[in-house]
Amino acid sequence: MRFATRFAPSPTGFLHRGHAFSALTAFDAARAADGRFVLRIEDIDATRSRPEYEAAILEDLAWLGLDWETPVRRQSEHLADYHHAIDALRAKGLVYRCFRTRKELDIGRAPHEPATPFTGAPLRPDEEAARLERGEAFAWRLSLDAARRALGGFEALSFVEDGAGPHGENGLIQARPELAGDIVLARKDVGVAYHLAVVLDDTLQGITHVIRGHDLFEAAHIQRLLQALLDLPTPTYRHHRLLTGPDGKRYAKRDKAQTLRELRVAGVTPRTLRAEMGLG
Ligand code: GLU
Repeated sequence: MRFATRFAPSPTGFLHRGHAFSALTAFDAARAADGRFVLRIEDIDATRSRPEYEAAILEDLAWLGLDWETPVRRQSEHLADYHHAIDALRAKGLVYRCFRTRKELDIGRAPHEPATPFTGAPLRPDEEAARLERGEAFAWRLSLDAARRALGGFEALSFVEDGAGPHGENGLIQARPELAGDIVLARKDVGVAYHLAVVLDDTLQGITHVIRGHDLFEAAHIQRLLQALLDLPTPTYRHHRLLTGPDGKRYAKRDKAQTLRELRVAGVTPRTLRAEMGLG
């Protein structure tokens, strides 16, 4: 299969230096392999995505000197595909309705403590029916227990990392989806969660190499499980380092002065940006 990689921003803010590094890294890899470069707009979270950010993303990437295949896939236009996948998982008994609120899940947790991975089970049918009757909101969660039974364990789940995880992880990696608990696949306010849309789209778009920041390394463990359950191929993963500012911290949406638009206004050129990032 021809090398294909992607840049998959969420239009929830302006792109900053960190995004530029990620997009350029993927784009350069596609070029070097004479492969495809795909741009995907991950706007399933309608509460945070804005069309003006999407327009700005396209403009900023073009300014950086990138070009990509068209039409650009916009996740919000394919929600039915994602729901079909959830239905398929439901039909195999792999997902369940979870009515717990975030508040309930956080009981007993101090604000600085990380949330412990949640695992649960379906409610008794009569209790579930009563809650549905009352119109209570719920999330669809993937059951690790059911997944483990369906696959006969997670030992056979692995992926190839040809970049590096945050702790230098490289080579054949044993996937550990259990570290994330029973992940939410869909809920009321955000109809489909990120992982499911990503694995389906990576397959549909023929992505052979997932190139992205190593802050998403843990996501590969969960995505590997979803690929197994949905019978999808596993791409090669190439996580890259995160760009940090002079203060040693990674760039984030809060660094307004580091958005590509601000840098452009300040007279920075794509060439200087590339040089600063060590991307020649
Ligand atoms: N949409 C995700 C983000 O903006 C990236 C998803 C991915 O590269 O897998 O953080």
